[in-house]
Amino acid sequence: MLISQILNDKPTQGVVTVAPGSRVGEAANTLSTKGIGGVIVCEGGIRPLGIVTERDIVRELGKRGTVCLDDKVEDIMTRDLVTCSPGDRAIKVLQMMTDRRFRHMPVMEDGKMIGLVSIGDVVKARLDELANQAEALKNMIMGY
Ligand code: AMP
Repeated sequence: MLISQILNDKPTQGVVTVAPGSRVGEAANTLSTKGIGGVIVCEGGIRPLGIVTERDIVRELGKRGTVCLDDKVEDIMTRDLVTCSPGDRAIKVLQMMTDRRFRHMPVMEDGKMIGLVSIGDVVKARLDELANQAEALKNMIMGY
C-alpha cells in the first residue's frame, strides 16, 4: 500500500496548519477543537516550517507551566521535519515513525505539502488491508 492511497481514503482532506507568529495557546486550542495530535506551522499552506504536537506542548507545560502558552509556535516547534512522498510504501513510513518515535508525517510532492499522515492513519490502513487479504484467502479456500 502506498501513502497516496492512505491520503485518498482519509475522510478529511487537507492539513491543519497554524501561521508562524501564532501562540502556543492557539495551537493547543486548534488541537483540542479539531481532535488531532499535531499541527504544521506553515505560511501559505504549502511550505512547512515545522511541527507542534501535543508532546511539545506538554513538555513545555511540564518544564515552565502555563506561561509557555504565550510563546510563539516557532519557539517550541520541531524544525527538522522528516517528510515522506505519496509514492512511499506505507510500511516504510510506519517503520520510520516507529524508529524515530513520532506519530505525524507531512507528505511532500514537488516541494509542496499535499497532506499529512498520522501513525493512526497508517495502522488503520494496514489493518484494513490485512482484513481484506484474510477475507480473500478465506473465500479462496471455501471456493466462493
Ligand atoms: P508526536 O509523536 O508526533 O507527537 O511527536 C513527538 C516529537 O517529534 C515532537 O517533538 C514533535 O514535534 C516531533 N515530530 C513529530 N512529527 C515529526 C516529523 N514528521 N518530523 C520531525 N519531528 C517530528
